[in-house]
Amino acid sequence: MKNIPRIFIEQNIKTNDIIPVARDTAHYLLHVMRTKSCLVFHSGDEFNANLSDDGKNLIIGDKTAHHDPSNDITLYIAPIKRMDDLVNMVTQMGVARIVPVITERTVAHHVNWGRIKKIATEAAEQSNRNSIPEISEPIPFAKLDLKNMAFADERTAYSTKEKNKVPCNIKSILVGPEGGFSDSEFAVLDTAGAVSVSLGRTILRAELAAVIATEKIMK
Ligand code: SAM
Repeated sequence: MKNIPRIFIEQNIKTNDIIPVARDTAHYLLHVMRTKSCLVFHSGDEFNANLSDDGKNLIIGDKTAHHDPSNDITLYIAPIKRMDDLVNMVTQMGVARIVPVITERTVAHHVNWGRIKKIATEAAEQSNRNSIPEISEPIPFAKLDLKNMAFADERTAYSTKEKNKVPCNIKSILVGPEGGFSDSEFAVLDTAGAVSVSLGRTILRAELAAVIATEKIMK
């Protein structure tokens, strides 16, 4: 199975479908990978496929037995300048959803979401996923539903108090921006009973914090 190119298809697919293929995808298959065979996926399912002789379509073959290794974790994240790296890494970790959250100290207001979705698609193709993470429209911090939500709490790095274990029903985690959460946001999180999560004794950059925070709730 190794080294077979994997291609995400934007639409629902089934065996015997004939799907028009983008010129750069056909070029990649024929001239980079030197093959007409590939695997295609959409919404958790993966199929064998072949490029048609004229290079214009993909002919969908049998469904494979490959089970989607994606998980059901939602990452709530304040947009940051290194959003590309962050999305690339957490997609490889299998997150189901990425929800950008505008906090008081968010500074990256002009993220190119089209480019970010392309990065997520490429990371999903390369990491054996059968789905790409859903990337929502940004929402304001005030609109967050904090029930059953954990948050990466940088205050814990400054404290010697025993660190919390993350309860296993938690599937959502919020990570702050470069400047961290404001005092009023911490007050809202604490009052709502959001689960404070420590990522260790050092302060991590937000993109690494997102990776470690995701790993903490994957267990
Ligand atoms: N400017 C903040 C400060 O100096 O305390 C640090 C912000 S940090 C770069 C960005 C985000 O990563 C934080 O809001 C938090 O969600 C997460 N984070 C970083 N280090 C962490 C740690 N040791 N424990 C928990 N969360 C952490």
